Amino acid sequence: ALPVIYAITPTYTRAVQKAELTRLSNTFRQVPGFHWIVVEDGGARTELVSRLLARSAVPHTHLHALTPRRYKRGGMPRATEQRNAALGWLRAHRTRGDRGVVFFADDDNTYSLELFEEMRSTQRVSVWPVGLVGGRRYERPLVEKGRVVGWYTGWRADRPFATDMAGFAVNLQVILANPRAVFKRRGSQPGMQESDFLKQITRVEELEPKAANCTQVLVWHTRTEKVNLGNEPKHRQDTVMIEV
Ligand code: UDP
Ligand code: MN
Repeated sequence: ALPVIYAITPTYTRAVQKAELTRLSNTFRQVPGFHWIVVEDGGARTELVSRLLARSAVPHTHLHALTPRRYKRGGMPRATEQRNAALGWLRAHRTRGDRGVVFFADDDNTYSLELFEEMRSTQRVSVWPVGLVGGRRYERPLVEKGRVVGWYTGWRADRPFATDMAGFAVNLQVILANPRAVFKRRGSQPGMQESDFLKQITRVEELEPKAANCTQVLVWHTRTEKVNLGNEPKHRQDTVMIEV
């Protein structure tokens, strides 16, 4: 059987949430050997997300984890607790015999189907370019003779692993073998989440370049415009309740 791709998606309630998750489910349902771990940022799982997942025809696990309010400020890394909850679930429910690859799939990015076939062969930790990120058209690992030797980036070039969350995948056995590897809040600077996590489990020299030696963009760090609800009535006027 194929190694299963475990895609970890933190998500939070907002006007565009159902649209984002619909777009993701339309992509993910086309990927064989796929398991979607959706972690809601909140004190409980919502009906909206539960129903969407039930209808999605994507094998999934639905979790929740609350971000403490003090961490909800700007400049703070997002979704730390949610990603860690998903790692905890994998460590509790998967074992040495399970073949899989773990990937962090934010709810607003754009994923090609080819990306998943590239990451499926990840032995330890694999990397590839990400489009529309870091103030550039793309960021990418620089590859020489099949090895990662540095990073092409326009932002914080001092990052040991100058990649976005969407730019790497980790073999499930590496996650299980490093039970203390988690995303950190304490001491983590903006943009350092990826590096702080990756340095716990790998070294730059052993990264596996994917996407034709990191020369193809197969995932995009798209961001959805904040929706204008300026014309919403103050009090409900419609005669029916409609989920959007
Ligand atoms: N997210 C979350 N809680 C929040 C803010 C963001 O769970 O309070 C999720 C969001 O749904 C997304 C991920 O964390 O899956 C990254 O957030 P965002 O896309 O806003 O970050 P950016 O694109 O700026 O890196
Ligand atoms: Mn985003």
